[in-house]
Amino acid sequence: MTIAFDNSYARLPDRFFVRQTPAAVAEPGLIAVNAPLARALGLDPDLLARPDWVAIFAGNALPEGAAPIAQAYAGHQFGGWVPQLGDGRALLLGEIVAPDGRRFDLQLKGSGPTAFSRRGDGRAWIGPVLREYIVSEAMAALGVPTTRALAAVTTGEIVWRETALPGAVLARVAASHIRVGTFQYFAARDDTEALRLLTDHVIARHYPDAETPLDLLDRVVAAQARLIARWMSLGFIHGVMNTDNMAISGETIDYGPCAFMDAYHPAKVFSSIDQFGRYAYGNQPQIALWNLAQFASCLLPLMGEEGPAVEAATESINRLPEIYGAEWLRLFRAKIGLVSEEPGDRALIEALLSRMAEGRADFTRTFSGLAEGAAAAEFSDPSLFDGWAADWTARLAREADPKATLRAANPVYIPRNHRVEEAIRAAVAGDLAPFHRLNAVLARPFDRRAEAEGYDAAPAEVEIVTRTFCGT
Ligand code: AMP
Ligand code: MG
Repeated sequence: MTIAFDNSYARLPDRFFVRQTPAAVAEPGLIAVNAPLARALGLDPDLLARPDWVAIFAGNALPEGAAPIAQAYAGHQFGGWVPQLGDGRALLLGEIVAPDGRRFDLQLKGSGPTAFSRRGDGRAWIGPVLREYIVSEAMAALGVPTTRALAAVTTGEIVWRETALPGAVLARVAASHIRVGTFQYFAARDDTEALRLLTDHVIARHYPDAETPLDLLDRVVAAQARLIARWMSLGFIHGVMNTDNMAISGETIDYGPCAFMDAYHPAKVFSSIDQFGRYAYGNQPQIALWNLAQFASCLLPLMGEEGPAVEAATESINRLPEIYGAEWLRLFRAKIGLVSEEPGDRALIEALLSRMAEGRADFTRTFSGLAEGAAAAEFSDPSLFDGWAADWTARLAREADPKATLRAANPVYIPRNHRVEEAIRAAVAGDLAPFHRLNAVLARPFDRRAEAEGYDAAPAEVEIVTRTFCGT
């Protein structure tokens, strides 16, 4: 099977990337091919599971038409400026144009060292590869814009991370891998020509109706506002919202230390390296604004006279809270069963959330329990819920079919940390069954069913995962 690659990014000037072939591995082995995604891309999943494609996913061969590159980018990591990051353990193989005309990057993650690897080995172990596979596919099934997992393979090699672990490679698909940090890379070098080329590329690729850099900024602000609202509506904590991990396309990217909350708390943090809670659940909208301010400043040289440009850019990013707030309200209204809009709705939602925090209620189970009359049991003190439910019931009386709204808005199954870690532990021991089972459950997150029994449960006390780690 040959892919009709059309590698538009690799046709940009040389300073956008470094050409690099993947490093061959000892013994490629198939973990999974994502059949529905393959089909959507116009690829035959059965052929992708055959040895020649497993070798390609492992980096031992190149598909015809590929132009492998490590993309250059910079970024703010935890607020600190890093002038050069780049693909240190990933390679963009090329771009696939799907049968529906949409263009996708095909990237290998864990494919060996590049010019951007610094002290890293360019490799990944099976843990982060499976974690990204599971969580990114769960996000897609939940309707959240995200990079996807096309395939995962083992390398037959050991990767050292404090201890010896099995190596793996993820084949990732994305609308593109262009980040806020890609713009920052060129802005920091005063390379206005590159910024112009990058802006034109991004507009043509992601926002074809935008005509100017300011239009682009407006579009990216809106896309990020909606994305973060989606995360918030699911209790999702990205964990490492550095500017190099914010995609211009509006897709969720980088599933390193991410986590779905079990018990709700706005200050919740999982990432082991997020000491000060910069990327806590409740901070995510603020951080998006901060990141977009960095993006806006990169576009300024393309926006004409400085004074008016700054003013227009500021106005654009300041619309984020408004767009985010409206989307948040729309999503959370549905989560409590509301379709109609009344002035008191925001306060009603916020009252529930603050009681959930106080009662350490499980985020997903509380909302999914609303349709089933089971939410009160999620609170350490059920009267916290009952005290709210009186107002809610009165409000619901003015809704036509709140049960249907609740069921459509609230997933039953999310990739809970303890399940993800269970799947990884088993895989390290050679058993992929829990990984495949978890993926099958998460493929239909809203559809409660007997064969998924137990996957809706919150972790038992001893199963609770409190820390997640960057997937290096
Ligand atoms: P991340 O934390 O995944 O956003 O990565 C931040 C930067 O570190 C990027 O430039 C990565 O390419 C680089 N990096 C992370 N892990 C490795 C690794 N194992 N080898 C080389 N570079 C890495
Ligand atoms: Mg990253």
